[in-house]
Amino acid sequence: MIDTNLLTLPLLLSAGLLVFAAAYAAARRRVRSATEFAWLMAASAAYCLAYALELDSRDLPGLEAVVRLEYLATSYLPLLWILFALAFSGRPKPRPALLAALLAAPTVTILAVWSNELHGLYYARTWLRTDGPFPAFGFERGPLYWLTIAYYQLYLAAGNIILVRHALRSTRASRRQALMACAGSLLPWGGNIAYLLGLVPWGLDPGPLAMTATSLCFALAVFRLGLFELVPAARDRAIESLREGFLVTDGRGRVIDANLAAAALLGPWARREDESLGAEAGLAREPRAASGGSAEPGAAEIASLIEAGGGEAEFSLPAPGGGERRLVAQAFRVRVGRRKEKDGWGVVVRDVTETAALLAKLALLAGTDELTGLCNRRRFFEEAAREFAHASREGRSLGVAILDIDHFKAVNDSYGHAAGDEALRAVAARLSKVLREADILCRYGGEEFAVLFPGADPAAALRAAERLRLAIGSAPILWEGKELRVTSSAGVYAAPPGRESGLDDFIERADAALYAAKEAGRDRSVLGG
Ligand code: GH3
Ligand code: MG
Ligand code: MG
Repeated sequence: MIDTNLLTLPLLLSAGLLVFAAAYAAARRRVRSATEFAWLMAASAAYCLAYALELDSRDLPGLEAVVRLEYLATSYLPLLWILFALAFSGRPKPRPALLAALLAAPTVTILAVWSNELHGLYYARTWLRTDGPFPAFGFERGPLYWLTIAYYQLYLAAGNIILVRHALRSTRASRRQALMACAGSLLPWGGNIAYLLGLVPWGLDPGPLAMTATSLCFALAVFRLGLFELVPAARDRAIESLREGFLVTDGRGRVIDANLAAAALLGPWARREDESLGAEAGLAREPRAASGGSAEPGAAEIASLIEAGGGEAEFSLPAPGGGERRLVAQAFRVRVGRRKEKDGWGVVVRDVTETAALLAKLALLAGTDELTGLCNRRRFFEEAAREFAHASREGRSLGVAILDIDHFKAVNDSYGHAAGDEALRAVAARLSKVLREADILCRYGGEEFAVLFPGADPAAALRAAERLRLAIGSAPILWEGKELRVTSSAGVYAAPPGRESGLDDFIERADAALYAAKEAGRDRSVLGG
């Protein structure tokens, strides 16, 4: 006789270890395959406990009762193994029909064991074994016992095939994990086969201890290789530290996950549901959208982006410190199962305020003359083209004037280039001051300025040009205590834009008029024909 405590103690320790592994994984349910792993470990723990009870039983009725309990724990183990293998290798769960089929064999086994007294199909005969060092459960296999053997082998093999295939396909890091999981699974399988072949003395079942060794293997994969922890933890950290907002919503548009930046960009509604607003938090698509838009900043925009099936949308929100914040949201569908209702959405929100402001500034600079701050020739042509189209549609007249400073070379020659620059700035300021709002002024060239007068007929254009021209020479320009006197000449042309007369034609005629003004002695305006 040997003390059965020698066997039950390791079993109890194993059960403890397995319960710990189950709890550890259960606490990390967000991680792929952690839930399945927890179930597998929990069932294995029950197996260990039940087997410890079996070893402690001394009579046949007690043994039979414990064996029935044991089957509750062990019958579904191979199925849990398949489910774990599927989840571990990132495959979808089996369809309900297949799951029901897979459940049939273990369920039949349990029913057969529990009702064996009625039919004797599982155990043909049972007795108290006394040939070993302690009383044990003796039995003769009935026909249904073979069903159990068959599905056990089949399921374990299926799980292992899934894992091996996954291991062969995966990257180096996860291949090690998958192989380790495979190796771990071989132990209980081998133990089971040894048990079935009667290779273990006294009918002892090596299954529970093998299962424990397996769980150690898994524990290595899980805890040491960081299977469940490292990658998700790194992703969590990365997502938390992003400056982009990141949201995950369920199919109904409720926020189920969000990083810190999301709340900072969109407001407190964009927070993890469990931390903030409960079931009310979220995009609340139908109800609030229907009642004139959501009160939550950005929620309506993101909701309609999702409704449109994802993509990108740009919108503005009031910034906390006043002003506006320009945001770009990108939404993408996340599919987890076969059913569309289960789809969720990932949303990334970027703050593009600075970029938008920079782009606007760049666009402005591209159309601005550096020296005078007036618009440049390029912008002038853009805006003038618009006015031309406008006037052409409405049959309105349009005037153009080109103003050129007289003898400007002399200014440079007498006072230096810097003085010339200063004079140009002063002229630009004087022109801007008397310019009417509708008129478009630009620095056309070196010391030439062009003005467009929308709606002006020849007389009005000439009057307007004169006003601008006189403004230039209204007073001397001060430069380092000296007074610079400048005059200018203007060439003017005005007409309704016709079929053959475009902006170039207007400019050409105004230029010719300017030439005429210079010829006629400068310091005057000439209306061209
Ligand atoms: P007019 O037009 O009366 O016939 O004589 P002008 O001396 O003004 O003649 P022109 O148009 O030939 O000369 C223009 C001068 O303006 C030549 C150039 O040195 C000067 N100029 C052009 N752009 C600038 C500038 O940005 N800064 C300065 N300081 N001078 C410029
Ligand atoms: Mg000139
Ligand atoms: Mg000149």
